[in-house]
Amino acid sequence: MIPVVMPVYNRADVVFERGEGPYLFDTAGRRYLDFAAGVAVVALGHSHPHLVNALVEQGRKLWHTSNLYRVAGQESLAQRLVDATFADTVFFTNSGVEAWECSVKVCRKYQYETGNPQRWRIITFQQNFHGRTTSAIAASKAEKMVKGFGPVTDGFDMVAFGNLNEVRAAITDETAAICVEPIQGEGGIRVGDTDFLKGLRAVCDEFGLLLFMDEIQTGMGRTGKLFAHEWAGVTPDVMAVAKGIGGGFPLGACLATEKAAVGMTPGTHGSTYGGNPLATAIGNAVLDVMLAPGFLQGVEKVGRTLHRRLAGLVDAHPQVYGGVRGHGLMLGLECVPANTAVVDRLRANGMLAVAAGDNVVRLLPPLIIDEAQVDEAVAILGKTAQELVG
Ligand code: PLP
Repeated sequence: MIPVVMPVYNRADVVFERGEGPYLFDTAGRRYLDFAAGVAVVALGHSHPHLVNALVEQGRKLWHTSNLYRVAGQESLAQRLVDATFADTVFFTNSGVEAWECSVKVCRKYQYETGNPQRWRIITFQQNFHGRTTSAIAASKAEKMVKGFGPVTDGFDMVAFGNLNEVRAAITDETAAICVEPIQGEGGIRVGDTDFLKGLRAVCDEFGLLLFMDEIQTGMGRTGKLFAHEWAGVTPDVMAVAKGIGGGFPLGACLATEKAAVGMTPGTHGSTYGGNPLATAIGNAVLDVMLAPGFLQGVEKVGRTLHRRLAGLVDAHPQVYGGVRGHGLMLGLECVPANTAVVDRLRANGMLAVAAGDNVVRLLPPLIIDEAQVDEAVAILGKTAQELVG
C-alpha cells in the first residue's frame, strides 16, 4: 500500500520535535548538532527569538491578503534587498524553484522586449540543481530527475562547469542567458572560481546575454557575503534567492536590474501567496539580523575556522575524508567511503549533515554557530571517521 505521504523521499527514520539555535531534539529527547539546517534554510538557527517575535506579532495582525493589494512588508523587504544588492526590483515567491522559474521568464522576456524574440535558450552547467519543476529538471538533465517525466522541456543547453570555451561554443543566435550557481550546492560544493564568473560576465556582455545567478543555496550570508557573487566582484542581471531568506519560513525572491526586468509588466507574472504579509514580516526580521554590523564578518570568520579544522581532519583521517571545498559556511568534505554512510554515521553520533554530488558531505550549519559548535562538529566528525575505519 502506498504510504499516505507520497514516497518520493529517502527519509532518515527520525522525527524532530523541537529546535534551539544550532540544535535539534528528536521525539526521544536526543540532541543533534544541526549542520544541515534544513538544507541551508535555517540560517539563523532554530527558534531565533527575533524571528519568533516577528512570526507571532505578524501572525496576530494579518497573514495573507493576496497580490491584489499592496503589501507593506513586501515593499520594505524589496527596498532593503535592492539597497543591499545590484538589483532594482524584486518578485517574491514561496520556494526556490519558483524564484528560478521567474528568473527564466525575466531572461526570455528581456530578449523578446529588446528586439530579439528568437533568443530564448539558456546555457546551464553540468551537475547543476535548480529545482524540480518540469523546466528545472530540463535544465539539469540528470537521469534520476527526468526519467519518466518526458518529453523533457526544450530550451536548456548544458556545458561543463568552469569551462568558458564550452560556454562560448554553446552560444547560438537563440541564446538568451547563462544560468550559474556561483558554488554548486547539490552538485557537491563545486566552487566557481573568480576567473570563471568574471568570464561569464564578459561573455554575457559581449553577446548581449543576461547573466542569471542561482543563489538559492549560496545566498543570504551563507558564504560570508550577502551573496556569493560579491566575492568574485561581478554582478548578475537576474538572481534567484530562497532558503535563508525566510530563515525556515517558505519564501523566495527573484531579483533583477531595471534593464533585465523591462518586460515584467502587470499581468506577465504572479503568485497567490508570494510575499504575503506573514512571509515578508519574517523576511524582514531575517534581514534585521543579517544586515546588523559584523554579522557577515562573523560568518566568514567562523567559516574560516571550520574550514581549517576540517583540513586538519582530512590530514588525520585520509581513509575517510579526502579534501575540503567551499566558502564561508557552505563547506563540503570529500569522502572516501560512500557519503551516505558518513551522513548516517554522523547522525548516529548526534550530528546532521547532507550528502551531495561528487561523494561529498555538505556542512551547512546555521550562520549563528560559534567556535564551541565548530569544536563539537570536529569531535563528532573525528569519532565518526575512527568508527568507519575501525
Ligand atoms: N536552486 C538551488 C541552487 C538549490 O539548492 C535548490 C534547492 O536545494 C533549488 C534551486 C530549489 O529550491 P526549492 O527546493 O526551494 O524549490
